[in-house]
Amino acid sequence: MTPTLSAELVNGPFGDPTLYLDFRFERRALLFDLGDLAALAPRRILRVSDAFVSHAHMDHFTGFDRLLRLCLGRETAVRLYGPPGFIERVEHRLAGYSWNLVQNYPADFTLLAHELDNEELRVARFRCHGRFRREPLPARAAPRGLLLDEPAFRVRASALDHDIPCLGFALEEKVHVNVWKNRLHEMALEPGPWLSELKRAVAEDAPDDTPVRANGRVLPLGELKARVLRLVPGQKLCYVTDVVYSADNARRVAALTADADLLFIECVFLDEDAAHAARKFHLTARQAGLLARAARARQVIPFHFSPRYGEREAELRAELEAARAGG
Ligand SMILES: [Zn+2]
Ligand SMILES: [Zn+2]
Repeated sequence: MTPTLSAELVNGPFGDPTLYLDFRFERRALLFDLGDLAALAPRRILRVSDAFVSHAHMDHFTGFDRLLRLCLGRETAVRLYGPPGFIERVEHRLAGYSWNLVQNYPADFTLLAHELDNEELRVARFRCHGRFRREPLPARAAPRGLLLDEPAFRVRASALDHDIPCLGFALEEKVHVNVWKNRLHEMALEPGPWLSELKRAVAEDAPDDTPVRANGRVLPLGELKARVLRLVPGQKLCYVTDVVYSADNARRVAALTADADLLFIECVFLDEDAAHAARKFHLTARQAGLLARAARARQVIPFHFSPRYGEREAELRAELEAARAGG
């Protein structure tokens, strides 16, 4: 990944699926799936701002309680995202406990649960001071599955078939815009607020002849881009798990993961057990390799290996790589 992001499978390839994505220079992290979180230090869990849950099978959602327990009593909010029915799952998890005293806690820990249904994002809030009763918020449009759009990155989801709806995710960093200070000097320009305007114009993909005011001069955007800026393309990380191998899923996964720099993909069974994999709505290593090949993914990290292959991990990896290479 880029120097600013690190990605880690919390429980290794055989354990509960959970990917921890750390923003190294911020006190912030994202989680993809909420499997067992016992292996994550509390201080690392407390950095989580958003958790993207593919579906609510137990091995993907059992860590919800640990996240809740650590955050309770803190003035913080965590956003959760999942497939249709997810808000109800969150509501029921919360309803499993008695909350008669929490309305008096000094801090109002808040959960914002989102569920993606086609291109609509339904939202509900659960607040400590509201005894974690469900408070509906207005739904938002989610064009092309857009869940989160921030200055540095965006996250999209696509609904996949796992007998139940299951979300696959793609995180795309936006272009990093760096300024060559020495080149500013060569052009007799001084740093100032105009640089923010310049960066914004680049982020918005404005045409090269767009005039930019810089220290009382007016220069075309294209010239400034060429002479004083260094554009570092962002990277794309994808997370795909718990999907049956079907033409429809293959088409959706290809659209979501196209040109991924880093693809995390489930690899539950060997292809010799393909019939069993289909009954369980999971991928085999070969099928995962074919999807990774279609995505033209630069790096592929398999996970969610079935415990039945405890001694055969190398075979799973080899099968994936062979299908990815073609032939
Ligand atoms: Zn699973
Ligand atoms: Zn599942």
